[in-house]
Formats: sequence, structure tokens, C-alpha cells
Amino acid sequence: MFDLIIRGGRVITASDSFIADVSVRDGKIAALGTELPGSAPRVIDASGLFVFPGGVDGHTHMEEPFMGTVSSDDFYTGTLAGAAGGVTTIIDYAYQEPGKTLSDAAGTWMGKARSKAVIDYGFHLVVTDLETSSDAEVRDLMVRGYPSMKLFLCYEGLKQSDATLVRMLKNARAAGGLVLVHAENDALVEALIRDALLEGHTEPCWVARCRPKAAEIEAVFRAVSLAESIDAPLLVVHMSVAEGVDHLRRARRRGARVFAETCPKYLLLTEDKLEGDWYSAAGFTCAPPLRDREETRRLWDRLSAGEIDIVSTDHDCFDLRGRKDLGRDRFDKIPLGMPGIETRLPLLFTYGVGSGKISLNRFVDLCSTAPAKIFGLYPEKGTIAPGSDADLVLFDPHKKVVLGKDVLHQHVDYCPYEGTEVTGYPVVTISRGEVVFDRGIFSAEKGRGRFIPRKPFEVPRRGRP
Ligand SMILES: [Zn+2]
Repeated sequence: MFDLIIRGGRVITASDSFIADVSVRDGKIAALGTELPGSAPRVIDASGLFVFPGGVDGHTHMEEPFMGTVSSDDFYTGTLAGAAGGVTTIIDYAYQEPGKTLSDAAGTWMGKARSKAVIDYGFHLVVTDLETSSDAEVRDLMVRGYPSMKLFLCYEGLKQSDATLVRMLKNARAAGGLVLVHAENDALVEALIRDALLEGHTEPCWVARCRPKAAEIEAVFRAVSLAESIDAPLLVVHMSVAEGVDHLRRARRRGARVFAETCPKYLLLTEDKLEGDWYSAAGFTCAPPLRDREETRRLWDRLSAGEIDIVSTDHDCFDLRGRKDLGRDRFDKIPLGMPGIETRLPLLFTYGVGSGKISLNRFVDLCSTAPAKIFGLYPEKGTIAPGSDADLVLFDPHKKVVLGKDVLHQHVDYCPYEGTEVTGYPVVTISRGEVVFDRGIFSAEKGRGRFIPRKPFEVPRRGRP
């Protein structure tokens, strides 16, 4: 006797593809096989559908205080949108606040998520003051469920020195941690912003013009060089420039444990969206900024070649009216960030798998398996195997949807992909054996999502090719 059986779908993992029934008991996958015996109170016919492991979005910002406001999605609306988009686990960023410790940050963000999240979650801790949190505390947290910690190399109030980065890399090497960096050269970006303001520029396009590719490439090279020297694992988040990815590839060939994340927006959207009508342009402001068409092609090349490890979203919504327009008169006051949690799977499927740039297995790896491994959630999350959590997405590869604010559930007043048609869409999302989303209907109780303490970093070295 099982709790749930999913019959006849095509099970796709990062390495396999086969038609099978999947049975679920006590929130876990109990068995996989053709025409599995046994019964269950609920049986879902998945013939004609793909069965993917639930999406793991390793980069979200729910209820994030940022640039004088708070992101529009909270842990309820944001995780509902995730469920509708085939996501069953998020890792959000918990910021160390001035004068408080990293443990305080974990507690604060736990308080935001606990009563609201409908899917499972963990937290990357954002280090802003390594004097208040000691190295001992950092290492303790790394082995107690928070292996990944992030440093911003830019933004006033958040940016960290090379000395702090070196300290954190040493902590990570010692304790089984993973350092994440937002890599942009702060001095260059700030100088360009000052100059642009002095010249009287106010428009959103200046967000991109003041954050050139060189700012990212330099910071990536610096972070990767330090990580390689110290032999500590490093993940560069939201990479938008191929030359940065190339720095990682070279270091990796020498044995460095360095990893690349990008987001659909850097593969699909371009900086020309930042021109024109203010309320249209402001919705495309983010950091690093959108790049030119040629750069998106190069990034796809790196993704196809296996040089980018994971695709996350950096889901960070700010309503155009009431939030983004805090910067109506000054581009440097626009809260930077874009929505994405709900559209990652359909976009990457349509433009990656559909166009032949990546295989189905690679799609699953990028969206679920690799993030689960890199962030210490595997094999409970990120695959379909007996004993793994029954986090599953039933995905209709032929379903066409025209994306837009009105069809999505993200709590934000615009959609960056308004009018874009995708082919392939999640239809049913299952979290720990419970159907939380079924063809437009949510059935997830608010707060049912669980905090998942993550394991220390243990991805093996790739070795030399
Ligand atoms: Zn982010």
C-alpha cells in the first residue's frame, strides 16, 4: 500500500530517461518500475508527461530588505509561485544585519519563512560583518546546516574586502563550506555612477552602462584566483559574461573547485530592454545588468559546453509602482532585481532543450540535480530514486503558454517575459509526496514547507580532462 502512485510517465533524471511508475510512501519515493504492483488512495496518470525531480532554485530573495524597500514576494506568495513553476526547494539569502551575528540572520529569516513557505527551503548566510561573527561561529554554522555563505564584492554597506574573502575561503576549506560571491568591481561601478550622476543622467539604462562587463570579469578573476590559491570551493553567482566563465574553466582544469551559476535572464534578455519608457525599462534593472545579444550567445555556448554548473533565478521582485519607482528620478536608487522563480523551467526547456542547445538530462541537472549536489541537498533532493524525497514535477512537453503577469503567480506588477510563448510547462508539482499544485489549483497549506539543514560541501574535484 502506497500513499500515491504516478503511472506511466517518462522519468527523467540527470543521467537517465525511462518510462516508469513512481510510488510514494511517507513522503519518500518507495519504488520505481514498470507496472508496479500495489495500490494507493491517489493514482495520477502521467502518460505523455515527463516526470522530473522537483526544481531546486538555489538563488531567491523573498521579503528581502534592499535599497530602501522590501522585495514584493514573501515566503508564501514566492513559494506558491515556485510550486506553480515546478520548484520544490529554494535556498534564500539571509543577511547578517548591522551589529548582529550570522546566527541571528538565520533566526530572522527562519522567522519569515516558517509560517509561510509551502515548499522546502534553506538559507545561504550573507556575511556583512566578520568582526561581529567570529571564524568559529562561521565554521560552526557551516557544519550545522548552512554550508554556503555569500560575500558581496560590491554595494555600499554590503561589500566585503579581499581580506574578508580570504578569511571566508579559509573557513570554507576547513569546515566543508562553500563561498558564494557576487562578483563586480565596486570601485569601478561606484566611480561610473558618480560620473553619470554629475553629467545629469537619471534613466534606467545607466544601471547597465555603469556596470560594465569588465567590472564583473575583474572581480570573477580575483575571487577565482584567491579560491584556487587557498584550495577552497567557490561558486560565482548570477554570471552574465562568458569571459568570467572562461576564468573558471581554466582554474578548474588546474584542479580548482570553482562553480558557475547563471540565470535565464542573462541567457534570454538583453540590455536594449533598458531603453525607452521608464516603467517598461525599470523592470529590467538588475546587477549584474543584462548584456548585449552577442554575450547571450556566448553564455549559451558555455552552458551547452558544460562550463556552467547551475541555472538559478535570483528571484528578487520589486513592483514597478511603489518600489522600482523609488528611483524614478535617479537610476542609482532603483531597487535592483527581477522576478523569475516561476518561469525558469519553461524558459530553459523551451530555449535550451527545445532548440537543441542542451539535452533533457542536462536540463534536469542544471535545474535540480547539480544545485542539490553543490548546496548539500543530494540525494534527498535533486533526483528520482528510492529513498529520495518525493519532490516531483509532472511536465507537459507540448503545453504552450503565453507568459504574462496575469497567468503567473509571482507577487509583482509586471512580467519581464510578457507575451513570450513557451512550449513545455509544469502541470503538477509534488512536494514530499503531497500534491501542492495541480493544473492551476494550489492545495498547499501555508507553512507546510520545511527548513532543510544542508550537508557540508562534498562535490568531488573534476580533475584534468
Ligand atoms: Zn541575488
